[in-house]
Amino acid sequence: MSIMLSFDFFSPIEPIHLAHYADKQLTVHLKRDDCIHPFISGNKWRKLKYTLMDAQKKQKTHLVTFGGPWSNHLLATACAAAKFGFKSTAYVRGEAVNNPNLQLCKLFGMSCIFINRMAYRDKPHLFQAYHGSDTQAYFIDEGGFGPEAVKGCAEIIDEILQETYDHIFCACGTGTTIAGLSLGLKKHRLPTQLHGVPVLAGGDFLHAEIAQLAPQARVILHTEFHFGGYAKTKPELLTFIQHFVAQTGILIEPVYTGKLFYALHQLITQQYFEPNSKILVLHTGGLTGILGKLDEF
Ligand SMILES: *Cc1c(COP(=O)(O)O)cnc(C)c1O
Repeated sequence: MSIMLSFDFFSPIEPIHLAHYADKQLTVHLKRDDCIHPFISGNKWRKLKYTLMDAQKKQKTHLVTFGGPWSNHLLATACAAAKFGFKSTAYVRGEAVNNPNLQLCKLFGMSCIFINRMAYRDKPHLFQAYHGSDTQAYFIDEGGFGPEAVKGCAEIIDEILQETYDHIFCACGTGTTIAGLSLGLKKHRLPTQLHGVPVLAGGDFLHAEIAQLAPQARVILHTEFHFGGYAKTKPELLTFIQHFVAQTGILIEPVYTGKLFYALHQLITQQYFEPNSKILVLHTGGLTGILGKLDEF
């Protein structure tokens, strides 16, 4: 069964030419992890890489994971499972629903089982209850969270060493990606300042999460750009995305990367950066998320 767990991927770095950046003498580059794969996208591939290698090493053939109905992680896991020869099962949070994300997951062969919010909270218990006797089953936490995920995200820094950046920006859900970036910077002894834009309300809790995964991480969190919470939007965010996408040809979406670029835009307006600063933004992919929001534009 064992299929080589690697694929050549393409994640170029390209400049974004916008007058708003040039007016403040800023160079902004984009690391295009959205180009890695249409469905095993962005940071979800980074997070799955070592997790799947571990599963394969332990000769597990069945990936069991967890997420909300719009989870990019579920879709990435479903597609990766199909690609690398695993079976996959997802416990989906909440009432039974259908949407394009879950339809794609099922198309890739994932079994989707809905589970009420109370029971969903205790994932190790769910895994034990339903798969405890299945020696083939392999537990992957919600969002791909775990030490293997951090290791995969740290590799992003290995790919950006041609240039020295003053600042790196990324969107934060669980904080795993930014924790990995922090470890990567430490490994290469780079002084680059890391910035996270939490997409959930009350994002300060992430400092503790990040510290657990990457002790001594030096991360600035810009917590005021959540627009009311996870997957919440406001007209000014949608208008901003509309302009950005039309001006750059780079697709961003309202759940993660739209909030990220909105935050960067506002900070630039507020003269947050020294002139001549070099900024790298990480596009973490997840573009299928826009399928649930298209009607709002
Ligand atoms: C999952 C996801 C994130 C959040 O990553 P964390 O490692 O949980 O902080 C950011 N951007 C996109 C597009 C995602 O799908």
